[in-house]
Amino acid sequence: MTVRTRFAPSPTGHLHIGSVRTALYCWLFARHHGGDFVLRIEDTDRARSTQQAIDAILDGLDWLGLGADETPVYQTRRFDRYAEVLQQMLDQDLAYRCYCSREEIEAMRAEAQSKGLKPRYDGRCRDGSRVRDNVAPVVRFRNPLAGTIVVDDLVKGQVTFDNAELDDLIIARSDGTPTYNFTVVVDDSDMAISHVIRGDDHLNNTPRQVNLFRALGAEPPAFAHLPMIHGSDDTKLSKRHGAVDVLEYRKMGYLPEALLNYLLRLGWSHGDREIFTLDEMVDLFGLKAVSRSAARFDPPKLLWVNHQHIQSAGAGRLADLLADQLRARGVDPAAGPPLAVAVEALRERSQTVKEMAERAHCYYAEYDEFDAKSAKAHLRPVARSALTAVQEELGALEDWTEESTQAAVETAAGRLDLKLGKVAQPLRVALTGQAASPGIGTTLVLVGRERTRNRIDRALAFIDARVAAAQ
Ligand code: GLU
Repeated sequence: MTVRTRFAPSPTGHLHIGSVRTALYCWLFARHHGGDFVLRIEDTDRARSTQQAIDAILDGLDWLGLGADETPVYQTRRFDRYAEVLQQMLDQDLAYRCYCSREEIEAMRAEAQSKGLKPRYDGRCRDGSRVRDNVAPVVRFRNPLAGTIVVDDLVKGQVTFDNAELDDLIIARSDGTPTYNFTVVVDDSDMAISHVIRGDDHLNNTPRQVNLFRALGAEPPAFAHLPMIHGSDDTKLSKRHGAVDVLEYRKMGYLPEALLNYLLRLGWSHGDREIFTLDEMVDLFGLKAVSRSAARFDPPKLLWVNHQHIQSAGAGRLADLLADQLRARGVDPAAGPPLAVAVEALRERSQTVKEMAERAHCYYAEYDEFDAKSAKAHLRPVARSALTAVQEELGALEDWTEESTQAAVETAAGRLDLKLGKVAQPLRVALTGQAASPGIGTTLVLVGRERTRNRIDRALAFIDARVAAAQ
């Protein structure tokens, strides 16, 4: 059997990270078994589906590298096929036209409720005797009246449903448009899907779909229903719990493989291991280790996973991402040191590429103001002589390297009989606006000679102004 999985989003908003986890599991399962992963855009709800949402799905999957192996299938382009299967079902008496009015259905519902029963259609049009002129009928599937449907769910285990609980599902509305459960079954069957992996909010649709598959003479696929992802307060994951739009994570400087790694672990485990490369994910993934209970979305852990992946990512790739992030801040990435040098200096202390760009900003452009706390602590009158001495020592250097600049700072400290920190800290604030930066030699190389000279002058002027204001 060829493994074929599909991701079938409805394009009604952004690409939610819960859906991305579903897509990831479908993709990994197909990759692991050497099968195919296909994309189906479930856009039949024309009022709610938008091109913008379709683009967000395609862009999101593309960013994550979860591309489909075949061109996407759009349900709105398959209405002829649905009509064909619908006619076939009517011809074979697998479905029938129902002429019940809204009032009749309401009355049925009210009666069931008054008896404490589940509202269900009572099948009064089943025998075809209630044809009404001037009424556009819906089409209902002739669901089996008795027996059970046993679903051997690959995550949930065996789940049994009673046909007596299911009524005759509407498969086409009175305007002829097909309904959700019907299109899914026609598509999964036509697309030869072997495994349906989706959120467990669809578990209740499964017995209806199994009956439809059987009526169409098709073998139902295997099913795997994934537990939901909750927020930290155990409610359904929403904006309140942090960003849920996957493309937001790109903007926030997350690496796609880190987001995938995090989402993989959200509901699947391999011992207590946390970090996986993409190849390892493909290698190790299976549905047996998928958790049966809901997972909790934990933004700090996602940040931690991202930090881990930033440590192992290639410098060239991070350099490109850093350039994008600098441009997003209005900073020219060419106006400073080679990006790969900045990456190596900053990756250890950066949890996201966005944070890396915040730290790198001062190496490519002027910073706005001194960080108030850092300036208060380090740009004090006593620092004046330290900064003047270091300006002189640096000015006398022939070449500008980590070693030579570091040595100049040490010489300045020696001249004044100061501990290195008493020179390096004011200098750091002068160079970057803040008291935290990489090693002082590294920082000096990143800032560059000319900017260094100007920034020490700027810090000296700041100290002078401070002294003048105090008088
Ligand atoms: N379009 C459905 C959704 O977005 C998924 C249907 C399915 O996976 O069977 O929830």
